[in-house]
Amino acid sequence: MRTKMVAGNWKMNKNLQEGVALATELKQAVKDPKCAVVIGTPFIHLATVAQLLQDSPIKVAAENCADHEKGAYTGEVSAEMVRSTGAEYVILGHSERRQYYAESYDTLAEKVRLALANGLKVIFCIGEVKEEREAGKQNEVVKAQLEGSVFSLTAEEWKNITLAYEPVWAIGTGLTATPEQAQEIHAYIRTLVAQKYGKEAAEDTTILYGGSCNEKNAAELFACPDIDGGLIGGAALVAEKFLAIIAAR
Ligand code: PEP
Repeated sequence: MRTKMVAGNWKMNKNLQEGVALATELKQAVKDPKCAVVIGTPFIHLATVAQLLQDSPIKVAAENCADHEKGAYTGEVSAEMVRSTGAEYVILGHSERRQYYAESYDTLAEKVRLALANGLKVIFCIGEVKEEREAGKQNEVVKAQLEGSVFSLTAEEWKNITLAYEPVWAIGTGLTATPEQAQEIHAYIRTLVAQKYGKEAAEDTTILYGGSCNEKNAAELFACPDIDGGLIGGAALVAEKFLAIIAAR
C-alpha cells in the first residue's frame, strides 16, 4: 500500500512567530493521522519548527534547496543544511520556482540528486500551464518534466520521491482541476512511472494533487484511485482548513 499524504506549502508566508503558532496548533490537533502529514516552511522556520515537531507525526519540508553542495553561493541553502535542521523533506520543481527563478530541468535534476544524497525525501512538482492544457498538451508536458529531471534516478533513489501533479492554472487561482481531469492525468503519470521503474514501483509511488485544493473539494479529489493526497498552498495557512483536509484523507 502506497503512502497517502497531505502536505502543506506555506510559500513566503508567516513570520517565525506566526509559523511557530501555526505549527503548535497543528501539533496539538494531529496526534494519530490516517495519512502522512508534512508542512513545507520557509528556510528560516525549519530548525525551530522541526524541533517543535520532534515528537509529532508531522514532518517538515523545505520549499527549495541549492543546486550546489556547498561553498561560495551567497544566500543559498544546501540540502545538507536543510537536513541538519531535522527537516526530512524538500519540495522541488514547484511551478513558482520554475517560473520566477528560471529553474531548468537540469538545475532541478541536480537539486533532486543533492537532496537525495543528503538524506532528504523529495516532493517533486510537475504540471502544465493554462495554454498547454488548452492545447491538450498536458501529458507531453508532465512527461518531459519527469524525463528531464527525475527519470535518471535509480530505482532505489526513486523510493524517496513523491510526485505532486499541480496544474499551474489551478495554483492559487480558485480554479481546481475536476476530479476527472486530475484522475486522468494521475493515472497517466503512474503509467509513465510504470514504464520507467516497473508496475510495482508505480503502484508504490505517492502522487499528490495540488492546485486550489481545499477543505471543500479535498474529499472528492482524494476519492479518485490515483490521487494519493494533496499538496496544499493557501488552505495550509489556516489550521482549521488544513486539519479538515487531513481528515478528508
Ligand atoms: C501550491 O502552491 O503548491 C498550491 C497547491 O497552492 P494553492 O493550494 O494555493 O493553489
